[in-house]
Amino acid sequence: MYEKFREAGKIAGQALKIGAESVKEGVSYLEIAEKMEGYIKSKAKIAFPVNISVNNVAAHYTPACDDEKVFKEGDIVKIDVGAHIDGYIGDTALTVEVESNENSRLIECAGLALENAISVVKEGVEIGYIGKVIEDTILKCNFKPIKNLQGHSIERYRLHAGISIPNYFDGSKIKLKEGQVIAIEPFVTTGIGYVVDAGAGNIYQVIKKSSLTSELIKHFDGLPFAKRWLKNLYGGKADMKLAFLLKRRMVHQYNILVEARNGLVSQMEHTLLVEKDGCEILTTR
Ligand code: MN
Ligand code: MN
Repeated sequence: MYEKFREAGKIAGQALKIGAESVKEGVSYLEIAEKMEGYIKSKAKIAFPVNISVNNVAAHYTPACDDEKVFKEGDIVKIDVGAHIDGYIGDTALTVEVESNENSRLIECAGLALENAISVVKEGVEIGYIGKVIEDTILKCNFKPIKNLQGHSIERYRLHAGISIPNYFDGSKIKLKEGQVIAIEPFVTTGIGYVVDAGAGNIYQVIKKSSLTSELIKHFDGLPFAKRWLKNLYGGKADMKLAFLLKRRMVHQYNILVEARNGLVSQMEHTLLVEKDGCEILTTR
């Protein structure tokens, strides 16, 4: 099982590296998402659509099939990617600034917060303490953590498997256990420190098993999927099919999340294996 976690983590990390290196002024979000997803598909399975969230958008944006958005100079681009092998998921993210260094401190701060958090991860550590380390690091950089986005435990076919790893001190006394797989993902902002819904995005997930959703479950293993992936499955009927399932509450549509004061947002994420005296980074790149 851990070998599969390691392999999926490495593939996610490599996809992230490929994506980050390809982000340039004038390149489309769609091109990057498809390039990364193509790489993952050649080696493993996709755990969720590549998220490309820019500037004040913190998470849950994936391009539509006809998306025309392109990167602009100075954009703060968060790329978040997941791969799985047999349900064992690697989840990892980073932030790049397009042809500028104006906000390098914001980006470095997320990296530092993740690094400091990783340095205290081991069996027995309270997750509230991890949150404190992240929060202290970010406040010291004169930015704010986003409090309503969290890291999470990962289990087979479950990206968010029950335990949330806070990005601030929330007083939680839940202790990490040896052998647990967790994702830590500090979000740093120039804004007020929380995200709000900004309307429906292009990411969906089946929430009710039925004969009407069995095909989607089979294809995407019950994990999140993108509307643009349905072309192959349903052809021109994808929109109709999806609208039908949404209306019957068999499928959930994720909202795009933006910073509440439209602050800029950076993010870094690794998936980790908790060990007795430390942890192993599974999503190396
Ligand atoms: Mn992620
Ligand atoms: Mn995650």
